[in-house]
Amino acid sequence: MSYDVIVIGTGPGGYVAAIKAAQLGLKVAVVEKRATYGGTCLNVGCIPSKALLHASEMFHATHHMDELGIEVAAPKLNLEKMLAHKDATVKSNVDGVAFLFKKNKIDAFHGTGKIVSAGKVSVTAEDGTVQEIEGKNIVIATGSDVAGIPGVKVDLDEKVIVSSTGAIALEKVPETMIVVGGGVIGLELGSVWSRLGAKVTVIEFLDKILGAMDADVSKQFQRMLGKQGIDIKLSSKVTGVEKGDKGAKVTFEPVAGGAAQTLEADVVLISTGRVPYTAGLGLEEAGVKLDNRGRVEIDGHFKTNVEGIYAIGDVVQGPMLAHKAEDEGVALAEILAGQHGHVNYDVIPSVVYTQPEVASVGKTEEELKAAGVAYKVGKFPFTANGRARAMLATEGFVKILSDKETDRVLGGHIVGFGAGEMIHEITVLMEFGGSAEDLGRTCHAHPTMSEAVKEAALAAFFKPIHM
Ligand code: FAD
Repeated sequence: MSYDVIVIGTGPGGYVAAIKAAQLGLKVAVVEKRATYGGTCLNVGCIPSKALLHASEMFHATHHMDELGIEVAAPKLNLEKMLAHKDATVKSNVDGVAFLFKKNKIDAFHGTGKIVSAGKVSVTAEDGTVQEIEGKNIVIATGSDVAGIPGVKVDLDEKVIVSSTGAIALEKVPETMIVVGGGVIGLELGSVWSRLGAKVTVIEFLDKILGAMDADVSKQFQRMLGKQGIDIKLSSKVTGVEKGDKGAKVTFEPVAGGAAQTLEADVVLISTGRVPYTAGLGLEEAGVKLDNRGRVEIDGHFKTNVEGIYAIGDVVQGPMLAHKAEDEGVALAEILAGQHGHVNYDVIPSVVYTQPEVASVGKTEEELKAAGVAYKVGKFPFTANGRARAMLATEGFVKILSDKETDRVLGGHIVGFGAGEMIHEITVLMEFGGSAEDLGRTCHAHPTMSEAVKEAALAAFFKPIHM
């Protein structure tokens, strides 16, 4: 059997590419070394972390019910059941991908895929048996793996010193937890365990958390996390992580130089980012080039330097996000089917699923300044939004950045309850090249949190009504 497309890896990039290619009439095979489909995202990333974020948020919310006139007894945590909810959520999602493969007549091969040469992939099953499959096009969608700490030897045991994979499966709530790295994954999982009772300290190398986010957003978010009891140490360089008699200790020093300090905790989460995963794929033998950061090098159409070999998702340049990988999967499938697939990298939203949420699309104020773009800022706080008051969700704001000359919206940033849903109206507007005036003149239902988006757009364009 020869395939039109062989996809190696079934994360959001790979499985979506496979389904889309099959929908477009191509004969598709996938190769996956994990027991279940769905990649990092469905198995140990986006989906399980969101199940725990939601459950821990519900647990925590009961502490504040009395403000709404609801008196509830102190909630009791059943962590085993909470983890079972997470596992069930993962199972239903990965089973869903298996169902979609069947529905779209995609042949699935279990084992480690290796590119033998352009057009040929070997699949080594767990029992060592090897089979070879052939296809016109090969798609590398092997994703990413946990990054370490530069220059520091870290012995991850996934019990005491954990990556995100261990942090979504802790058997008991640690009394204390250190999170090394104040990015999205560390802050989300730090929030989970903080809400369940752990005293969490975040140690971050940069002088702000969520390094790439708009500085206003990052500052506000840090204040909120502080109020929730999470201690954040910025501009701090971790120089050692060691297991102790009880838990582990982390040594760190000011980035600018100065005395080192040591902190101990029951659990240390290493969340310093992720690196592209290409081990064992045979790229060197196949002559596929990597860039200086170990990512598979591609052109504007996801093509590597070797004819017939393509790559998408975390293993290539760009933000390591599931929806970016998915959109690349769709675009590549369209290209392979002779269509004109395209991803607009200027309009990729990103969300931090804490409570409140943080969401962002397009440029930050710092990026516009650095690029010398003349811009306007419209900001609207949730304290001035009726629905937010009714829901006791007044923390945060919406910030719209628009071009000073044309009024075209260049970026949107939201901190607040439901930010991860609200960001999409700014995303759609930007995809269509809309202006702050377009957004400000679009009728928004009252009372909704989304009215703050409209008001921020009005603020960028002229003046908000309710402030
Ligand atoms: P992956 O999902 O990593 O999938 C790659 C697959 O390839 C894996 O199943 C792997 O087993 C398989 N594979 C690798 N090598 C081989 C081989 N040689 N042969 C066969 N199979 C192979 N992103 C978001 O957008 N939103 C979120 O909320 C979010 N939360 C996250 C939370 C955590 C804790 C983590 C760790 C990540 C999170 N991410 C989130 C990031 C997201 O998971 C990734 O961006 C996404 O999974 C990338 O998809 P991918 O298809 O490129 O690769």
